[in-house]
Amino acid sequence: MKLLEYEAKDIYRKYGIPVGFGFVISSPDEIDGRIRDFGDEVVVKAQVDVGGRGKAGGVIIAKTADVREESEKMFAKQIKGVPVEKILLEEKLPIEKEYYVSITIDRSRRENVIIFSSEGGVEIEQTARENPDAIRKIWVSPLLHDIPSFMLRNLLGDAPKELAPVINDLYRVFCENDGILVEINPLVTTSKGVFAADGKFIVDDNALYRLGIEVNRDLTERERRAESCGFSYVELSGQIGVIGNGAGLTMSTLDMIEILGGKAANFLDVGGGAGEDRVCSAVKLVAEMPGVKVIIVNLLGGITRCDEVARGIVKAGVSQQVLVRLAGTNEAEGREILNKNGYKMLPTMDDVVSEAVDACKEAAL
Ligand code: GDP
Ligand code: MN
Repeated sequence: MKLLEYEAKDIYRKYGIPVGFGFVISSPDEIDGRIRDFGDEVVVKAQVDVGGRGKAGGVIIAKTADVREESEKMFAKQIKGVPVEKILLEEKLPIEKEYYVSITIDRSRRENVIIFSSEGGVEIEQTARENPDAIRKIWVSPLLHDIPSFMLRNLLGDAPKELAPVINDLYRVFCENDGILVEINPLVTTSKGVFAADGKFIVDDNALYRLGIEVNRDLTERERRAESCGFSYVELSGQIGVIGNGAGLTMSTLDMIEILGGKAANFLDVGGGAGEDRVCSAVKLVAEMPGVKVIIVNLLGGITRCDEVARGIVKAGVSQQVLVRLAGTNEAEGREILNKNGYKMLPTMDDVVSEAVDACKEAAL
């Protein structure tokens, strides 16, 4: 899950990474009496989870005297379609130069990778495209809890040495808080020292509880319900709902849809041994998502019994067409239940997928 800037900075602060003085508000009324420490100018930062926030108007520098008015304007905005519910008000740092640093996992090398550039700031994507040499990388074994100094020296090149301890602290933030990605862009030098002017932190969803986070905000309400039922469920943007058992079968169903020119709306893995009730709630959940025109149920009956699955499908009684491919334990019984209730059971995965893709094409005509 992605943390917002102020949440990331709360963690950074605990690790001694310097962050500008500031506070978060949910309404302009919360400013009263708290702005005296800002000096003449203040940075008004929308706490929204969108890339290119500054360029989209989500970061402005205001006269401290106008902070209330500017905050009201910011609360009224949508940044790339996302409403502004929280604002971080921060002292304006006297920036000398902006740097970029991020840490993530390089899965193919099984190491952490640290990426640094002396050309930080809002144009970092352009730098990556046009001047890739301005971006340096080092790979650090996850068994090391600090970055060896010689590696840090290589990473920084001619950049100021004062950046090194901050990057090492960021590495500890990453390792000790189950990070998937941390990023400071810009990491800035000022007359008062080095500061993290922005902050990003993506935490492994499986470790949210260790940070005391109860709700995964990156999930939709339906995805959360699915998680609490023990289903692996993901929402996409097409028209075909997909139910499978086991990651392999579910993924190959998705691949087949793609190959035959369709688009999945979502997919749900019911797991092994799903009975009538679990199958029923799975079908209902998948059908509930707006935009689902047809549903594929592709299950293999090992421990799972096809007759139970068939009963679950019938019990769900959803309005969309359900195309079923079942093979294995009690297959004949399953087929009988489905046929009796007007559902179609097809012999192979190709059959259900091509029929679903055709049904969507017809619906589009
Ligand atoms: P992003 O667009 O979401 O990455 O937003 P940032 O927090 O990185 O802010 C965008 C830009 O605003 C930065 O690259 C800085 O140039 C500028 N900025 C942000 N905070 C400060 C600050 O405290 N002082 C100054 N002078 N500029 C700032
Ligand atoms: Mn930034």
